Amino acid sequence: MSYRGRIAPSPTGYLHVGHARTFYTAFERCRARGGTLVLRDEDLDPERSREEYSRAAIQDLHWLGIRWDEGPDVGGPHAPYAQSERRELYLAAWERLYAAGLIYPCTCSRRDLLRAAQAPHEGEGGGDEGPMYPGTCRPPRTLRSRPGMEEERRYRSPAGANWRFQVPDGEAIPFTDGYFGPQRLVAGQDFGDFLVWRRDDVPAYQLAVVVDDHEMEITEVVRGRDLLVSTARQILLYRALGYPEPEWYHCPLVLDREGRRLAKRHDALAVRTLRQQGVTPAEVLGR
Ligand code: GLU
Repeated sequence: MSYRGRIAPSPTGYLHVGHARTFYTAFERCRARGGTLVLRDEDLDPERSREEYSRAAIQDLHWLGIRWDEGPDVGGPHAPYAQSERRELYLAAWERLYAAGLIYPCTCSRRDLLRAAQAPHEGEGGGDEGPMYPGTCRPPRTLRSRPGMEEERRYRSPAGANWRFQVPDGEAIPFTDGYFGPQRLVAGQDFGDFLVWRRDDVPAYQLAVVVDDHEMEITEVVRGRDLLVSTARQILLYRALGYPEPEWYHCPLVLDREGRRLAKRHDALAVRTLRQQGVTPAEVLGR
């Protein structure tokens, strides 16, 4: 199978040095294998995404010397390349998970709801996906063996409830990372039941990213190290949906002077700010 990689910026702010390096790594790994690179606009969250940032990301990526073969600006066989236009695909996946009894509606906190469309980056407001979900709304174990029956298909659509994937407690999820080597995260210990759909009818990051990487036939996912735990969550979704798992390559994070992970609030390290100051692409990329 030929290599297919992707870069997937979220248009919730300007790209910073950390994004630049991760995306450049994705570009280089793809180029070294003569592969096809996809640009996907992860504009899932209508509240936080701005078209201005989508446009800026394309400009900044070009300035860095990154080129792609498929994307919202150039089209391609897997169009559309913006998540806001791919809802039907996520809905079909929700339906399958629901019919299989692998997800359940949850009426807990609003805080989780607000986070779920965003990739859960370590070190941002409490770290990862927030506190581990204690399982308050989990259905009794017996329900899982009678998929769909228990509620007589009460839900025809996900709207109106938060939906969580029930993780297999105690099960280790092993995978090999192309940079960090063997990983082993334990469901129910390293992460809990995670959101796949938000009450305000927005698909959650975990579900959307898995559906897209599968539909776009991505063979290797290159992303920041702060998404390692999410990779384990996503492996559970790959299994649940019967998708073959891609390879994984997590990039070390760029830290600021205080040793914190860069976030979009670090304007000083935004690619465009540096560019305006006369910094070169090679300097941004640390080469
Ligand atoms: N769109 C996500 C972000 O900007 C990255 C998604 C991923 O690599 O899975 O954080």
